[in-house]
This record gives sequence, structure tokens and C-alpha cells, in this order.
Amino acid sequence: MSSSPAAKHQTKHLFITGGVVSSLGKGITAASVAFLLARRGYRVRMQKLDPYLNVDPGTMSPFQHGEVYVTEDGAETDLDLGHYERFSGVDCTRASNFTAGRVYQTVLERERKGEYLGRTVQVIPHITNEINRCIASLGGDDVDIAITEIGGTAGDIESLPFLEAIRQYRQKVGAKNALFLHLTLVPYIAAAKEVKTKPAQQSASILRGIGIMPDFLLCRSEKPLTQDNIEKLAMFCSVPEENVIQVVDVPHTIYEVPTVLAAQQFDAKILRALGLPENTLEISDWEAMVQDYIHPRQGEVTIGVVGKYVSVSDAYKSINESLIHAGIANHAQIKFLHLEAEQVTAETAANLLKDCHGILVPGGFGDRGVAGKIETIRFARENKVPLFGICLGMQLACIETARNVAGLADANSTEFDMHSKNPVIDLMHDQRSVTQMGGSMRLGSYPCDLKAGSKSAAAYGQTRITERHRHRYEFNNAFRPALEKAGLVFAGTSPNGELVEIIERPDHPWFVAGQFHPEFKSTPLKPHPLFRDFVAASLKNRDGK
Ligand code: GLN
Repeated sequence: MSSSPAAKHQTKHLFITGGVVSSLGKGITAASVAFLLARRGYRVRMQKLDPYLNVDPGTMSPFQHGEVYVTEDGAETDLDLGHYERFSGVDCTRASNFTAGRVYQTVLERERKGEYLGRTVQVIPHITNEINRCIASLGGDDVDIAITEIGGTAGDIESLPFLEAIRQYRQKVGAKNALFLHLTLVPYIAAAKEVKTKPAQQSASILRGIGIMPDFLLCRSEKPLTQDNIEKLAMFCSVPEENVIQVVDVPHTIYEVPTVLAAQQFDAKILRALGLPENTLEISDWEAMVQDYIHPRQGEVTIGVVGKYVSVSDAYKSINESLIHAGIANHAQIKFLHLEAEQVTAETAANLLKDCHGILVPGGFGDRGVAGKIETIRFARENKVPLFGICLGMQLACIETARNVAGLADANSTEFDMHSKNPVIDLMHDQRSVTQMGGSMRLGSYPCDLKAGSKSAAAYGQTRITERHRHRYEFNNAFRPALEKAGLVFAGTSPNGELVEIIERPDHPWFVAGQFHPEFKSTPLKPHPLFRDFVAASLKNRDGK
């Protein structure tokens, strides 16, 4: 008998849509599902499709859109990808985030090249076909389950081509190979003392009108649902009762969500619906991490984050999460003190920063708040408060030392003063001719060599590391001797020695700043070594050691 040819590998797809309102935590839910399926032994990939027209979020203000998350391969993406990586531990790529703008750009470029010659170019089929190509690009021989989150809310005009595309996708690959998960709101109305199912029914009905019948209904609510609620939702949203999953507000941390879903066998039910073996689920390390978070035996440590977007909680999402991870690693609860950089001056610094056990100066663009960040760094340096500078934070740490220790009074970055006689931070040659704003910075993962004996080398436990970047300006090597004399150590550089990646002050308990963004690589189970040691130093400072 001849053996039959090996069956072609089929990537299975999960599509997650949102209903009623935005900000329900679709990203966290999708990330939790990815984590559970990965723990059941499946090779998972994740993706977000955003209906807005920017080609990517790279040029959007954090006030508009929150943080821009950067992948290993240098894509500037939606901050939900941060949740995907932190929960699932799987790296995202360029194929993990597409916007309507990028889809249209591709189609229009093809149109200009004449690839549709003679035909009318239309949303259906040309835009929907391109969306389907984006979805398919996530799959492959090394992917068992591809999870696609559709941004926006069912009923949005701009989501329509995306919803039509996933309807077509499932039609093509069949119900065993693609499932629809709909996350919706089931609000508790205090006056009626009741949970109300009508908004969820209506969002399911919007989807039905587009030809999408959800396989699972994920119900975000403040209060647990009653059996009566569940029966009603199942009946009027056309979902089997056991596929109505409750996502009730978690009491302590978003990292409890996977456990909430697993307790309802959600991941096992998905696998059954896809016709895949359930395997076993082992998440005791994750649950222990959550317990460590809930019971911090070292108490509280206050970390000041001095930035210019502090009024938007999502603007420093990955930094906040990385600090939380570092807190867990040190058995301490992080008390965040988010300070508006513009308020910090030579007069106010001592008072504003007096309660901080450690101070973090994050990245940023433009000169608003720069003076306050420099004052903050001076305060930390002079008062021996642990300081962690990130990207712009590192550039300003160099400027602060240049001005206040090396005596170069007008030291600056050419981002803020084109005519500074002491441009300690400057454009590299290959950035001088750049005129296009989008996607033109130093982006993505680069290697860095650490100086043996430095605090950074001690933190990482190795001397070759890689970290993700997103910046245009660099340290100007002409100033290395002056700043070394002023007490800085260049503890990390690119392997050829050309680019300064980390600076430290050996005369200080913990003064470390990096040109990269370590916050994009921290996960709750693998806290980033620099964040971990920064929080450890802050705890020591708190305890006066
Ligand atoms: N604005 C600085 C630069 O472009 C720093 C960027 C950042 O902090 N991400 O180099």
C-alpha cells in the first residue's frame, strides 16, 4: 500500500471582534487566549487589524493613541501588541499589525503600477482581498493557531471591510478552521439592580446582519451573570449556552484574566470547536506570579515617572507594566508617582520628588518638558536617588552631565537647538537627509556589547545583548572624553563601538540610562533585568541601605 501524502498543514484562525463600546479589553482577552493555547502546546501567532487610515501609529501622538509599541523587526505598532507579547511570550512581527491605511496604500500602489489595468478598483473585492492576504500572512507551516483581533466596535463604518473580509475568510477555510469570538458588554444597571443583556444582543445582531454568527460570546461585566442572563444571551445571540463566557472584572491585576478564562474551559472549548486535541494545561508558574503580585512581602516602593504624556495612562503602558513585573520580581508593590515634567523646576524639584525611592525618565519627542526632565535627572544624580533613563531619558542624562558637571553650559540635542555649540546629542549622517517622518527612525532590535564590571553587565548576566530602538538622534562621540571626565561610563555600545547605547555613573548607587526601549521586552514571567535591578536599587534606597 502506498502511504498517503502528508496532509497539508492548516493554520486555524480565531477572529476577535468587539461590541457595544471600545476599551473592553479585547487586546488583553486575545492575549490571554493566546497564552492558554500556547500553554496547551500550540504554536500561536497574533495580529491586530486597525480600521484607521494612518499607515501605522508611528506618527500619532501618545495623547491620541497611547504608546507606540515596537517589534523586534522594527514595526511601529498598536499597544495591544505589547499585551500579546507580555502574555503569550511570543514575539510579534510586521505581520502582526495592519491598518486600513496600510491596506489601502498597498492596493493604491498596485493600481498605479497598472496591476488592475482595465478594471474598476473597489472595496469589495480589492480591499477585502488585501485584508485576507494580511490575515493569511500570519499563518504558515510553523503556526497552528493565528489569532486576529479586529480593532473598533461592530457597527463602526470603517470596520465594515474588515468584518466582510473575516466573513469571507471563514467561508473559504470552513467552520472547523476559523472561529468568531465576540467580546461584548453586559452592563450592570445599579438602579435596576440588574445585568442587562440588550446591548450584547444588539451587537450580535449587527454582526449577523453582516453574515457573522459568533461561535463564542465573551461577556465583559462588573457582576457575575445569572443562569437566566446566560440563557437569554445564548438564545438571542444564537450561541450555545456553554459558549457564553464570562469575563467579569478581575480584582487585582489583568494577569488574572487567563485564569478566569481557563476556569470556564474556554481554551479547551476553542480547541474542541477547531477539532484539535485539548492536551493539558499547566500554568502554575503564572498563577504563582499572580500570587506574588497580590501579596508583596517587601511592601511598597514609590517610583516617580517624570514624563510629558502622564495624563494619558496608556502613553507609558509598557513602562508601567515593566515596573510592575520588576515589582513582582522584588516582591514589592510599585506605587506610581506620575509627574508632569513641565512642573519640575530647580525650585520645585526637591518638593515634587522627595517621596520617590527611584526615578524613571522615559522617552519622548519635542522640547516640551525637556527642562523639567533635566532638572529631575540633576536631582537624582545629586541626591543619589536611583535613576533609570530611557531613550530621550538617556540623551538628557548626557546633556545634564555635560551642562552641570562638565561645564558645557549650552550642551543640548540638535533636536531642541540646531545651533548649540555643544551638540552632545546629534543626528547621525544617515539621518540628515531623511525628509519622510513615518518609519524613518532607528527602529527594532540591535545588538549591544556591555562593559565587564558595569551595573548593566551585572543585571543582564552577559555582555552581548539585543534591545529594541525607536529614535533618530544619537550620542555625539566627539563628547566622549569630556563626559568620561565628568564621571560617565559608556557601559554599552554597538559591537563596532560607534553608537553609545548605555551610560552609567559609577559614583552613584544606580544611575543607568539606555538609548533603547527595554520596556518592550519585559514580561511578567521574565522581568527585564534593568527594570528588576532599578526597582531593587529603589528598595535599597527606601530602606536607607
Ligand atoms: N526624540 C529622541 C530621538 O528621536 C528620543 C526618542 C525617544 O525617546 N523614543 O532620538
